[in-house]
Amino acid sequence: MKEIDYDASILIVGGGSWGLATALELVRRGHKNITVLDGNDIPSPIAAGNDLNKIMEEGDEADDDKETEYFWNTLRRLAATSWLTDPIYAPFYHPTGFIMCCESNPSAWDLVQSYARGRESEMTPLHSPEDFRATMAPGALTGSFPGWRGFWKRERAGWVFARGTMEAVRGECARLGVRFVTGPKGKVVKLVVRDNGDGKGDDVMGVETADGVVRFVQTTILTAGANADALLDFERQLRPTAWTIAHVGLTAEEALRLRDMPVPYNCERGFFIEPSFETHELKVCDEHPGYINLEVDVEIAMEKGELWERSVPVQKDKIPVESARAVRELLNLTLPDFAHRPFTHTRLCWDADTADRRYLITRHPKYPSLVLGVGGSGHGFGLAPAAGKVIADTVEGCVDERLAPLLRWRPETAKGRTWWETQGRFGAGVGVRDIKNVAGWVGVGDEDEDEDTAGEGRGMESKEDEKETGSVFSKV
Ligand SMILES: Cc1cc2nc3c(=O)[nH]c(=O)nc-3n(C[C@H](O)[C@H](O)[C@H](O)COP(=O)(O)OP(=O)(O)OC[C@H]3O[C@@H](n4cnc5c(N)ncnc54)[C@H](O)[C@@H]3O)c2cc1C
Repeated sequence: MKEIDYDASILIVGGGSWGLATALELVRRGHKNITVLDGNDIPSPIAAGNDLNKIMEEGDEADDDKETEYFWNTLRRLAATSWLTDPIYAPFYHPTGFIMCCESNPSAWDLVQSYARGRESEMTPLHSPEDFRATMAPGALTGSFPGWRGFWKRERAGWVFARGTMEAVRGECARLGVRFVTGPKGKVVKLVVRDNGDGKGDDVMGVETADGVVRFVQTTILTAGANADALLDFERQLRPTAWTIAHVGLTAEEALRLRDMPVPYNCERGFFIEPSFETHELKVCDEHPGYINLEVDVEIAMEKGELWERSVPVQKDKIPVESARAVRELLNLTLPDFAHRPFTHTRLCWDADTADRRYLITRHPKYPSLVLGVGGSGHGFGLAPAAGKVIADTVEGCVDERLAPLLRWRPETAKGRTWWETQGRFGAGVGVRDIKNVAGWVGVGDEDEDEDTAGEGRGMESKEDEKETGSVFSKV
């Protein structure tokens, strides 16, 4: 095995969920020269991980796993070790249980059944509204749960306090000597590609930041989440996709009633997570195949000589009116007392979907000094500690032999990929949605969801509270 140079300079582009986990893993392994760059203070307002809470599931033990199961089980087991035993991660894991369920769609039911298959001993089947209500103490879940069916995994799953984790990991990294550069000095606008004359051709030598400074390093790690796609031509392997987050406020007594609630995830409607202990906010996400924001990428189009569109993240602290309605409908069916509470927080949240929803953690095939850690695909927070370990393994050249091919650069999986592919997701009765067609937006203080559409026309025409986060960059 190649000897590891612990003094080599390492630049991590993006101090979100995976960038932080990577920095922590590398510094703990003895790497001494690590800098994390982020365009915002950490936790960044555009980081998918900068959220109240996220679902987390532990992995299964299986010797006969096929490739896909091997991938997920290995990463889940790696992550679970951190959430259960690492003093930095463990305080934030709440294994309150998880309910996988659906209503009427036969394909959704197939998905729910496949979730439980082979793990029947740890699953409690839920067939009726009474079964669902009985997952909590009487009086907690008061909804009618019409036609809901699924399985309750009582143990080894639940949720993690996401923002708290990011703050703790950043703090520990800083304590161990990782440098953080944020704001314009940390905002990467370009990967610097040069031929350094070593006879190996072009390579990524470092980055240029928004203040015009060029930093040269030995290894660049790209963990910029949904915005990574703006810095590199991923050959359609990444699709920045947005989902929504809404919070409603509860009283302390109401929050106490929902204490230790399993996470009910209805793959046709959405999910909510136990209220925050400190603020008593209940986070609710509606489920659907996601929103995309297609723009023509002139740079790539010119290079390839064909029309080239890609989805460009926009930051927005409101949610589409149809999402607001879906959130209220979900609450109405489960926790009707809270269905009409004003929102205390709303936000669009972007992640990058790969075509097969497996992560993309590998060295770039053309630029050997560039390590990629991207493709959270809607389920990358619970597994962030594992992603950090595998990205660190990639830097050190010691990735598990069975795992490496599953994480490789794989443009063939994205060939002919349509951006409108639902990727196995359900909800909303429609496919992937065009963010430009959103009829109106709802945020904190908007009392009536329907009225907020007035004057805004097609959603993206209202620019005052929205910011593109991706298109200003240039790409290699
Ligand atoms: C609504 C929603 C709900 C989700 N729920 C769950 C869940 O319940 N469980 C789960 O496991 N996962 C969940 N996920 C997925 C999970 O949040 C992501 O997969 C994961 O956080 C991705 O981590 P990341 O580090 O790749 O990206 P991020 O956390 O988004 O971090 C990217 C970082 O890069 C920085 N950055 C971007 N561009 C630049 C640049 N040019 N220069 C410098 N810095 C830059 C950003 O500021 C940010 O800090 C959810 C995602 C969404 C959108």
